[in-house]
Amino acid sequence: MKKWVLNLSLKKKWMVAVGLIIVISYAIISLVLYIALQTWLLNNEEKNAQRTVDDLTVFFESQGGAVTLQQLQTNTPLMKAIINQEQTVRIFNLDGIEVLRINDVTAAAPISTSLREQQSRPVELVVDGTHSYVLNTSVQIGPFQGILQLIHPLSTFDAMMNYMVTTLLIIGLGALLVAVTLSNYLADLLMKPLVQLRESMVLVRDNGFEKKGRFKYAADDEIGDLLTIYEAMLRELELAFIQQQQFVADASHELRTPIQVIEGHLSMIQRWGKDEPEVLAEGLQTSLIEIARMKKMIEELLQLARREKLDPHAKTDIIEDIETVKRELMTIYPTAIFHERVVGQMRHAAISSNALMQIMRNLFENAIRYNDQTPVIETTIHYRENDIMMTIQDNGIGIAEEHIPQIFDRFYRVDEARTKKISGTGLGLSITKMIAEKYFVKIIVKSKRGKGTIFTLYFLDK
Ligand code: ADP
Repeated sequence: MKKWVLNLSLKKKWMVAVGLIIVISYAIISLVLYIALQTWLLNNEEKNAQRTVDDLTVFFESQGGAVTLQQLQTNTPLMKAIINQEQTVRIFNLDGIEVLRINDVTAAAPISTSLREQQSRPVELVVDGTHSYVLNTSVQIGPFQGILQLIHPLSTFDAMMNYMVTTLLIIGLGALLVAVTLSNYLADLLMKPLVQLRESMVLVRDNGFEKKGRFKYAADDEIGDLLTIYEAMLRELELAFIQQQQFVADASHELRTPIQVIEGHLSMIQRWGKDEPEVLAEGLQTSLIEIARMKKMIEELLQLARREKLDPHAKTDIIEDIETVKRELMTIYPTAIFHERVVGQMRHAAISSNALMQIMRNLFENAIRYNDQTPVIETTIHYRENDIMMTIQDNGIGIAEEHIPQIFDRFYRVDEARTKKISGTGLGLSITKMIAEKYFVKIIVKSKRGKGTIFTLYFLDK
């Protein structure tokens, strides 16, 4: 049963739920109403029966102590006026023989001739096929002592109750029908955007990102929220997909060049290298340089593809990390001169030590490599109120303004860097940008050709 309910479509679940809620609440309300009305009506009928008996008793008493049954028998029209048309009253003597009858709607009910067994309240019985209240009570008429039997039919009450059941049933069925129709309409309305979403998902699955469904759902509810998230997710996926395609295209293009160069040199060596030692030496030399470049490029590509994970608890001391990188670089570039200035009270930056050192390595190396003179690199670390600002200024060749926006793109190299044969892959700054974005580090570049470049970084502090 549970499985059956779970497997129903959302629309059917909704309709079953609405139907059940309406049927159950309506049944409870109807039952309460039915019982209340039944009790109230029965109570009324009982009071009517009781009143008739009381009125008759008062009437008998008012006739005085000397009245006889014969005198009363002549007076039946008066007694008929006291009792109700449908009621029947019989008076029996103590031998159980009927001595007086007012009205004759129903046959007599069984009586007990013992005075002690008479009742004070009516009881429900079926007399002569009619559902009735019967009250047997002792009566004193002048010197006569006997038993009075009142039969009060409950046919009006039964008719009322039947009428009530029929009405409740008809109203209930009507309400159920209206509710089911309304909930069907509502369910359709609610399901529409979900159906659209599904269609869009199928479209994307079958045709890729070129064909995306368009939604016409503007409401600011849970479904609207779901659609917004889905659309944002789709955009991100599409972007990642395009970037990945671009990356593969760029990587294979960039790797093709060194391979072609090596291929050319190797075929030259094959043809002439055995006889001409200079061709052999030059060919091997160039091939080794190209292989080294390829190696670096592959390492950097892997780094980009791996994408460092953000460590939310990361923190590091910038000054210490810069010292480490400086020491490392001075072994490779012994002529480089580093100056450092610190402003403000030292605080930790919200970035991992590894990530920061990688950024610094790329920026320092660029400052040294893209330089015609003895490289002088000035670093300022400014601990400000809300962040940490760092500037790295070099006396290098600078970057023309039109190139600045592109230097962070993958494989982008300024022509000058290529013509001056400064080795590089064009990936260093894209890795820097990727790491910086992960740790919410903002980078701004200012440069003048022939004068030098300033990289300004803003770190969040911890
Ligand atoms: P790579 O150094 O491997 O070529 P990068 O991504 O690190 O790649 O740099 C991209 C380009 O930006 C470089 O080729 C160079 O033309 C330019 N560039 C980066 N830093 C500097 C700098 N400090 N001075 C001058 N040019 C720079």
